[in-house]
Amino acid sequence: MQHKLQVIKAKMGSADEFTPLSQLTLGMNKCRVRVRISRLWESFNPKNDISFGLDSLLIDDQGETMQARVLPDDIEQFEDQLVEGMVYALSNFTIEDTRESYMTCSNELTMYFGGQTVVNKIEDTDLIPLYSFEFINFKDLRSRCDDVSVLTDVLGHIVYVGELEEVWKKSRLIKICNARIQNLRGRELSITLYGDTACAFAEDMHEKGQEASVVAVLAGMRVESSHSVCSTTCSDYYLDLEIPEVQEFCANLRIQQENPVPKKSPAQKLAESWRTIEQLKSLDPEEYDEDTSILCKVSLIHIDCSNGWCYLGCDTCQKSMYGAPRKYKCSRCGPIKRPIQWYKLKAKVQDATGTMNLMIFCEVAEELVGVSAEELVEEIEDDDEWYTLPEEIEDLLGSTHTFQVFDKYGSRSWSVRSIMDDVSVPVPAGTTAQCKEEPVREGSINIAIPSPITTQCKEEPVHEGSINMAIPTPVTAQCEEPVHEGSVTWRSLLQSLLNARRSLSLRAALPRQKIGRSPLGCRSLTSVCEGMTGSTNSSAML
Ligand SMILES: [Zn+2]
Repeated sequence: MQHKLQVIKAKMGSADEFTPLSQLTLGMNKCRVRVRISRLWESFNPKNDISFGLDSLLIDDQGETMQARVLPDDIEQFEDQLVEGMVYALSNFTIEDTRESYMTCSNELTMYFGGQTVVNKIEDTDLIPLYSFEFINFKDLRSRCDDVSVLTDVLGHIVYVGELEEVWKKSRLIKICNARIQNLRGRELSITLYGDTACAFAEDMHEKGQEASVVAVLAGMRVESSHSVCSTTCSDYYLDLEIPEVQEFCANLRIQQENPVPKKSPAQKLAESWRTIEQLKSLDPEEYDEDTSILCKVSLIHIDCSNGWCYLGCDTCQKSMYGAPRKYKCSRCGPIKRPIQWYKLKAKVQDATGTMNLMIFCEVAEELVGVSAEELVEEIEDDDEWYTLPEEIEDLLGSTHTFQVFDKYGSRSWSVRSIMDDVSVPVPAGTTAQCKEEPVREGSINIAIPSPITTQCKEEPVHEGSINMAIPTPVTAQCEEPVHEGSVTWRSLLQSLLNARRSLSLRAALPRQKIGRSPLGCRSLTSVCEGMTGSTNSSAML
C-alpha cells in the first residue's frame, strides 16, 4: 500500500514540490512547475511566414495562467514533446517581462523555454482546469481597438456563418470565414477567421448544421472595431465548451428563447427613447451603448468657442488631422486629397429639468447652421475670429430643437447624432395625444416630454409609489379634464382635502377617493399622460 502510494506520487508529483506560477520571478528559475498546456500554437508573421516561436498558454492548479515561448531555434527540440491539453512538470526555464504584443493572457511575465529546460509529461490531474479565458464584454471592446498588447477572448451565440472564401490580402491568397455572434443583450459582433482556423471553423459549423444553436468561445482575437474582431496566429475557437461561463450563458439564452420578447422596430425604440436632461444625466452607461439614440427636446443657450468652433479633419472620415502622420495623410484613411474644416460646437443646452453640455459636429452642425464650416472659415480675416462665434452660429442661441443624441464612449458625454424635423419626430411611446382643443405652446418643453413611466402604461398597472411621477404639475395640465374616474391627480387630491375639511355629515355623503392603495388603472394613467403630452406632435400623428 505504502509502496503503491509512492509510485503514484512519483508519477504525478506531489503538489508541494511544485511552485505556483504566481510565485515565479524574473530570471532563471530552478524550481519546478506543474502546468497544463491549454493552448499551443506557432506564432509567425503572416506577411512572410517567419516564425516568432512556438507559443503556449499554461495553466496551473490554482487556475493561474502564463504564456510560454519556445524560440524558433529550439522548436525542433520541443515540438514533439509538447501536446495541447497535456500536463507537464517543467524546470530550468527563464522568466522574462511580457512582450509588447500578442499576449493571450494578462500575466505580466512570460516563460521562455531554452536548450536546458526540462520537460516531463506527467499524469493528468483534475486540479488543473482545461481552459482559462479572460472574457470581455462586447461593449468594452472599443477600449481594445488597435491595441494588440493583449488579445481578446469573447463568448457568444453564433447567429451567422458565411461561406469559406478565398481572398487576396496584401498580395497573399488566404482562406477567410466570416461569422457573427450575439450576446445576451442582443448585441452582435462580427468575427473574421483566417487560414486554418477559418477552414476548421467552417467545417465544424457545417457539420453542426444550419439550425443548430451553438455557443462559441473565440480566444486570442484581435479587436478591429467595437463591432468586429478577427483571428490571429494565436487564436482558437471552441464550440459549446463545457465551462461555467458557457453553461451560464446557455442557461440564460434558453430562458430568453423560451420567453421571447417581441422585437421592437427602430421606430418603436426611438419613440420610447424620449428623455429629459435630468433623466439623461442619470442614465447608467451600463444600460446603453454607442448605438443607442435618445430623443430630447432642448434649447441652445450657449456655445463655448474658447477652443474654437471648427477643426481641420479628413474629408472622408472626419478624423482630426491633429497628430496625422503627414499633412495630406489621414491616420485612418491614408493619403487624402485635402483636409477640410468641420464644425465642432461645444453647446450648452437646456430644458425644464436642467442644463447639460452637448457636442454638435460636422454635417449635423452644418444642417443646424445652414452653411458649411468651410464657408465660414473662408470669411475669417482676423485670427481672433477662430475663437469668436460667427453670426450664423450665434443666431442659433435660443432656438429649440429635437435631437437624437448618443454617448460614443459611454463616458456620459453626449453628442448630437441627428436633428429631428417636425414630421419625423416620433410620438412618445405609450401615449396618444387627444387634446386637440388647446395646442401646446412652442417652447413649453416640459409638457412635451413624458416621464419614462408613460411607456409602462400598456404593460403593467402602476403602483402606489409611482403616482407622484405621473401627476403633472398644475402648469402642465392644459387640457380640460382629461382625467377619468378613479385616477389620482393633484386636482382630485386637492378636492378630497377640501372635502375633508368640510363638515363630517357632508363628507359622509361624498364618494370617497381611495388614495392609498387605489388600483390606479392603466387607462386612467394613460389619460394623465395624454394630458401631459398635449399635441405638440399632432402633425406627426395625423
Ligand atoms: Zn480619414
